[in-house]
Amino acid sequence: MPVIFFGHGNPMHAIDTNAYTKAWHRIGQTLPRPKAILAISAHWYIPGTSVTASATPRTIHDFGGFPPELYQVKYPASGNPNLARRVQVLLKPIEVTLDNDWGLDHGTWSVLNHVYPDADIPVVQLSIDETKPALFHYEMGQKLAPLRNEGILIIGSGNLVHNLHTYAWGRHMPEPYDWAVRFEQAARKMILAGEHEGLIHYERLGKDATLSIPTPEHYLPLLYVLGATQKQEKIHFPVEGVDGGSISMLTVKAG
Ligand code: ZN
Repeated sequence: MPVIFFGHGNPMHAIDTNAYTKAWHRIGQTLPRPKAILAISAHWYIPGTSVTASATPRTIHDFGGFPPELYQVKYPASGNPNLARRVQVLLKPIEVTLDNDWGLDHGTWSVLNHVYPDADIPVVQLSIDETKPALFHYEMGQKLAPLRNEGILIIGSGNLVHNLHTYAWGRHMPEPYDWAVRFEQAARKMILAGEHEGLIHYERLGKDATLSIPTPEHYLPLLYVLGATQKQEKIHFPVEGVDGGSISMLTVKAG
């Protein structure tokens, strides 16, 4: 199976139809059909590693101030307790908690609502341990890589550039900030060249990185995806663009 990082951006994309959501839909139509999906979302950022173990994960509306119709969205994909246990085994000796409380947050369902609108593929979410450094998350991706040969689609959902302080809510599409463009360009070059070291230590890119990644939770899902990528694998960017000036919608697909 390929492995994909989605830039999810504004939760409204879940119910909008636009260039991003159309591209997400096309990805779903062109991928080999997975047995299940393992999703690493920016929005399950907690102290510790947990995996959803419920057979019927709930749809979590983890945002505020959006129109009522967004709160009515349900993404009724089933879970996959067997996959949750398989993840536990693969990640040893890291302790992974089987969680029956979390479900699917909008990082996962706002994208999958377009990629697999029928919600007919089981989905398991893996949390991001907020106490660990970037390298830990990259190595998690490496440990999860064998799932790709077991028909599991690993997806990361975040944003390569994610600065909400500078994001133009509701205003007409402003030009992307120059620091956002520079950081995305630098990151794309490293992704294509397989220079993962530079992406793990992104802070070395200085001020452009600080502005693009003011907090790491939307960036880290990319490191899981890169960790699960083989060095020689072909990389594509099937979705591109910067939303609201400071949210990169870049999708990174390997394989
Ligand atoms: Zn988000």
